[in-house]
Amino acid sequence: MPATTAAALKTVIGLEVHAQVLTKSKMYCSCSADYANAEPNTHVCMVCLGLPGALPVMNEVAIETVIRTGLALNCEIPSYCKMDRKNYVYPDLPKGYQISQYDLPLAVNGTLEIVVDGVSRQAGITRVHIEEDTGRLVHDMAAHDDMSLVDLNRSGVPLMEIVGEPDLTTPEEAREYLMALRRILRAIGASTGNMEEGAFRCDANISVRTEDGSYIGPKVEIKNMNSFRAVERALRFEEIRQREAVSNGEELVQETRGWVDASGITVSQRSKEQAHDYRYFPEPDLPPLNIPREMVDEIAKSVGELPITRERRFVSDFGLSPADAALLNSERPIADYYEAVLNGKTQGTYPQVVANWLVNDVMGLARAKGLRADEMPITSQQLRGLVDMVEGKKLTGGAAKSVLLGMEENESPAVAAERLNLLAMDDDGAVKDAAMAAIEANPAAVEDFRGGKQAAIGRLIGDVMKRTGGRAKPDDVRAALLELLNGN
Ligand SMILES: [Zn+2]
Repeated sequence: MPATTAAALKTVIGLEVHAQVLTKSKMYCSCSADYANAEPNTHVCMVCLGLPGALPVMNEVAIETVIRTGLALNCEIPSYCKMDRKNYVYPDLPKGYQISQYDLPLAVNGTLEIVVDGVSRQAGITRVHIEEDTGRLVHDMAAHDDMSLVDLNRSGVPLMEIVGEPDLTTPEEAREYLMALRRILRAIGASTGNMEEGAFRCDANISVRTEDGSYIGPKVEIKNMNSFRAVERALRFEEIRQREAVSNGEELVQETRGWVDASGITVSQRSKEQAHDYRYFPEPDLPPLNIPREMVDEIAKSVGELPITRERRFVSDFGLSPADAALLNSERPIADYYEAVLNGKTQGTYPQVVANWLVNDVMGLARAKGLRADEMPITSQQLRGLVDMVEGKKLTGGAAKSVLLGMEENESPAVAAERLNLLAMDDDGAVKDAAMAAIEANPAAVEDFRGGKQAAIGRLIGDVMKRTGGRAKPDDVRAALLELLNGN
């Protein structure tokens, strides 16, 4: 192999994602798919235990969900597909095969829009197919140091595989691809997308080649990446390893490598098995599926507005900053909540004011309380009421934050503000008294202000706010202070 300079090489990355499909029951039996919250081997039956003679029955919701995913990824949905057996032996696979799809998947030829550094591009989606998850091996060395245990609760949980085209050229793009994909899956209710819990897993293929094709490196598959960050780090490590090998004239081989997160390296696991090792053949226990056009049209209605489209609408129609629009669209329930707060009031600065409260205060409070994205500490009506009171100068910003924290369930912000004695002061006399006290207590600030340091008034305003428990309106305070300072 001719020594090639690392700079002349380009990186080619393709991702394969396995995402558990959100359904109540498993793919081919009626056992609960909620495998994690059960005693081991309690959500099992003849079918998912792989006992001889047991017959699988297709989960229609899972099929519909994969079609919805395909549509959200701009795929074609062929009118005909079939299931195939993928044969291999492993202790967590009781049947000795997985029912998957081989040459006729549910969805093909799609695209996924990714945005990196503000630049948008389409990455190709080769296919989306349905299959089933395996069981889990439990290596509990403390309790059983001479054996491994198997839990088959997960065996047969619906799993979809989303295969991307090798269109990605940097580890950053790979990370964006995964985040964009997961956001869509969550938005359409297809998967929890939870990577830590194993509901969203990624294998990556990476190789390097010269632009002109004079050198095309072998594909290396990377496994064992359990976070978006791990995917990006593993790909960066592998990209550098392959580039250095090529420029040193070393031979690269097609292989599977495992990511070791703690040491930040990939290590060789095995040379790549070929697809025909799995001896795919059509699943004899399940009929092929005809997917009528009307069914696809009906499912298409349930896709809804995709997150990236909605994010752009928040910028173009509501005038939100791109960063806030992205944050509000990280999860569909947050975007829904935001639009419920707006309640059609989309003029002027109101949408951005609401976004500020939601992003900075309400979501912060939700995080502090450990709430999920679909749970908010206050209702959309409560937040709207709170923002309207601030906008109407019935509450100062500081007092509104205290109302937010002190408001009880189903209590209106107005009632809460009154109960907590936080309503904005309308009493000019009280504001003036507080201003006089502040001037008395801060001679240095007064001197600075009179000496020409206009900013010194901020210290006095702060003191008045403290004295009035944050209830004085900042404009009133400033006016009262200026009157007193300039009058003397
Ligand atoms: Zn079962």
